[in-house]
Amino acid sequence: MTTPIRAYIGVGSNVGDRFAHCLAGVEALGRLGGTRVVGCSRWYETEPVGEVVQAWFLNGAVGSDTTLSPHDLLTRCRYIEGTRGRDRAREDPGGPRPLDLDILLFGDQVISTPDLHVPHPRMADRAFVLAPLEDIAPRVVHPVLKRTISDLRAGLADTHQIRLYEAVPRSA
Ligand code: ADP
Ligand code: MG
Repeated sequence: MTTPIRAYIGVGSNVGDRFAHCLAGVEALGRLGGTRVVGCSRWYETEPVGEVVQAWFLNGAVGSDTTLSPHDLLTRCRYIEGTRGRDRAREDPGGPRPLDLDILLFGDQVISTPDLHVPHPRMADRAFVLAPLEDIAPRVVHPVLKRTISDLRAGLADTHQIRLYEAVPRSA
């Protein structure tokens, strides 16, 4: 029997019903064979990063124990993105997407292949990744930078705004 590995997956959406897309993504990850979701962060509304002018994102992070290989997990993440209407062939790079699932960490593995880089190359520079990841994995150590997620978050220079998302507004 293969020993499961703890993977962390970043979840994001900025098209349509963002919360529904993100929750559907988390549920679909939980239904994958050989995979068990063990934690989910709070949700954050985040200012887009990059050149493209687009709507704010909803971002979160999921921890899951999986016996899938990293590439099989990537394939399934792409499939789940597609079930929420994402069409990579027609979208602008870095542009709006109904669902984005990024493999942030895969145990302490370091992977560098044409279609998969783990740890995710830009995760350490981004508040929209580190804030939710810190909710569920504060003491996990980035296998390349050798610093904890909390430490990376504390030293972050990213000035893009993020704010906690309340699915049900307080006044409702
Ligand atoms: P991004 O999430 O960086 O804005 P995309 O979601 O459009 O960009 O993904 C572009 C490509 O990035 C994917 O097709 C995938 O092959 C590649 N990729 C490389 N490393 C990863 C990773 N760790 N997680 C998800 N995708 C990755
Ligand atoms: Mg992606």
